[in-house]
Amino acid sequence: MARVYNFSAGPAVLPEEVLAEAASEMLDYRGCGMSVMEMSHRSKAFGEIIENAEADLRELIGIPDNYRVLFLQGGASQQFAAVPLNLMKNRVADYVITGAWAKKAFKEAKIYGDARAIASSEDETFSYIPDCSDLDVSADADYVYICENNTIYGTKFHTLPNTKGKDLVADVSSCFLSEPVDIAKYGVMYGGAQKNIGPAGVVISIIREDLIRDDVLEGTPTMLKWKTQADADSLYNTPPAYGIYICGKVFKWLKDQGGLEAMQQRNQEKAALLYDYLDQSKLFRGTVRKEDRSLMNVPFVTGDADLDAAFVAESKAAGLENLKGHRSVGGMRASIYNAMPKAGVEALVAFMDKFEQAHS
Ligand code: PLP
Repeated sequence: MARVYNFSAGPAVLPEEVLAEAASEMLDYRGCGMSVMEMSHRSKAFGEIIENAEADLRELIGIPDNYRVLFLQGGASQQFAAVPLNLMKNRVADYVITGAWAKKAFKEAKIYGDARAIASSEDETFSYIPDCSDLDVSADADYVYICENNTIYGTKFHTLPNTKGKDLVADVSSCFLSEPVDIAKYGVMYGGAQKNIGPAGVVISIIREDLIRDDVLEGTPTMLKWKTQADADSLYNTPPAYGIYICGKVFKWLKDQGGLEAMQQRNQEKAALLYDYLDQSKLFRGTVRKEDRSLMNVPFVTGDADLDAAFVAESKAAGLENLKGHRSVGGMRASIYNAMPKAGVEALVAFMDKFEQAHS
């Protein structure tokens, strides 16, 4: 078996134990005589899968009883519309623009109401998180929106914004379950599963109960109304069943690893290996302001596009895959999600060091 170290930003590396267990259950899920892919989403077996997945997620994060967990489809991008459709009662919302995904969410919200950009780091190519301690929050804002970890630019809100009492909505696609979080600080937290949790096709939204309501914007499609999904326990229609099954296995894996505190410690150690190397390197440099660095996505450059391309090609040949930066920014990016072992980051740093010696 030749597994590579996969630094993809998403879909991304999953724990080998999870993949192996799923493979062992592929033809006969626990005596059912069929794969989870083949079973009715109304079956007892699938009912247990989704209930256990939710219970494990609740336990992992410590989700309070007054929050609902929805397993949805349409990716995080669909929530860019669902958020304003469900929450924009006053048709006003404030957005902090920290990268391409926040911008897309902002653009989508503008379709439905007066979405206002109240802070941005676009002036410096999104290489930092703007000061959000004293934002000019609109008095009638229905919510304040952030993209908590910026997958493309490699920045992370290490302190949540002061929303002046407004509900915080956060896209956590690329930092979901990477560290402990206090859900009570959020009105809505959502993210696509395909980075830190499972396969593409599942988006998980954790929503405070009072924000799940009937009086959504007129014309909201039934499927985009959170209440539809909440009332049906995420089974209003056929859910992304196999994806939810894999997410459930990842939740169990995370519990076995020691939960989110243990993951945070591991993620800090892995990220430190890479950032410490970058900080002393004479060839490579990180592109993000130090205090805003993400633990999950680490962009870096040499400053020479040809050398960057050579690095990407040579690292691929060495079994280090998907290190090319996002097409909009170039350079390199190493995504080091929960399932990336420390040995993978060590192999990357060793390879970078070798490359640096060969090119200096
Ligand atoms: N938000 C963030 C932070 C992302 O990184 C991505 C995808 O990479 C998205 C949203 C879009 O997710 P999806 O492709 O599931 O719509």
